[in-house]
Amino acid sequence: MKKYMEMTRQERQAEYAAVKAAYDAQKAMGLQLNMARGKPGKEQLKLVMEMGTILQTEEDYIDDGLDSRNYGTVDGMPAARRLFADILGCRPEQCFVGGNASLQLMFDTISKAYVNGLLHSEKPWSRLEKVKWICPVPGYDRHFKVTENFGFEMISVPMTATGPDMDMVEELIRDPAVKGMWNVPKYSNPTGIVYSDETIQRLASMKPAAPDFMLIWDNAYCIHEFACEFRPFGDILSLCEKYGNADMIYEYASTSKITFPGAGVSVMATSEANLAYLNPLINIRIISYDKINQMRHVKYFHDADGIRAHMRRHAEILRPKFETVLSVFERELGGTGIAEWTHPRGGYFISLNTMDDCARRVYKMAKSIGVALTEAGATFPYGCDPRDRNLRIAPSYPAAEELENATHVVCQCIRFVSAETLLSRM
Ligand code: PMP
Repeated sequence: MKKYMEMTRQERQAEYAAVKAAYDAQKAMGLQLNMARGKPGKEQLKLVMEMGTILQTEEDYIDDGLDSRNYGTVDGMPAARRLFADILGCRPEQCFVGGNASLQLMFDTISKAYVNGLLHSEKPWSRLEKVKWICPVPGYDRHFKVTENFGFEMISVPMTATGPDMDMVEELIRDPAVKGMWNVPKYSNPTGIVYSDETIQRLASMKPAAPDFMLIWDNAYCIHEFACEFRPFGDILSLCEKYGNADMIYEYASTSKITFPGAGVSVMATSEANLAYLNPLINIRIISYDKINQMRHVKYFHDADGIRAHMRRHAEILRPKFETVLSVFERELGGTGIAEWTHPRGGYFISLNTMDDCARRVYKMAKSIGVALTEAGATFPYGCDPRDRNLRIAPSYPAAEELENATHVVCQCIRFVSAETLLSRM
């Protein structure tokens, strides 16, 4: 297709009339499609239905003499800690296995910092005049909501193809008010990029001015490749330890996108010193998490190899969905110069940039035809994308047959808004 910028006024008017007619026709169809959240599709959930009945004898509930049915063991069943250590490449003693949501563990750790302070804090963060936080953008909206909720000042740092702009990060951490940073190092949400070895090494060896700086390592997509072989990732905990930063790192993961997002198991991996400090604080809020569910996961998968084999089945389901979306983008937007998008090999998202000042209108227009996208702006702190151009596309949930149509609608909306914008500028 011709580049929009090179069209004559007449050509643009013709394009505008064509996409407007297509928009009117789509609207009349009364669609109801959702590409807003990275939810596994029904076919993925069905794969693990047998997990519900896997614990059959009394012994299945017991591990190392600990009874998963009863109170106690706030840091998780030993077998579950071993399972996550196997996945993340760290030691079981560094794993705190919680309930179904890693987001809750992240929120809780920050809330401990706020109310009590962390191991190396001079005082609780609530008593500080200002707390600042580094936010790679575009990033995960729920991360930004957590730090916004605590009133931290969020500082955006651009994502590059190799991870966050590290020159900027290294400059920012010289300020003692900068207390932490969000990271999704593998198949980042929403760009799908994987941090390079150099970025990881620079992050692990940072010397922040704040003694209680939190490097949050949300490894939500650590084994979630759908378009390539499993890509091993070094253990961030030992790398930080090597640079004298053992207590700076807080890694998180969960089985939300492995088994059931509503009933999975989450983990926080950090130094043993941090866990010794945090366990009693966490224990104030909860006596123990759902350890029976931890045992179900252990019995079902056994080890990291078992989980990786299962993730290959997820890949078979997800790969065609991503391919559909990418091929419709290419067919309907390729060569127009009005949008660019990422080509992830794992994770749950595609990040798409429209022309400046168009994303919000595209989001609204798609919604008006019945296609829900993540709200424009959500991938930036405070919901504010300064160039109003980023959209997060989540292909996993709609059924394969709906996906083509939903993506077509998004493309039509992008063409409509772009043509209108360029015409208004002529
Ligand atoms: N982190 C990232 C980067 C995510 O994309 C998501 C889910 N969209 C989560 C955390 C949420 O994980 P959980 O269900 O374990 O809270």
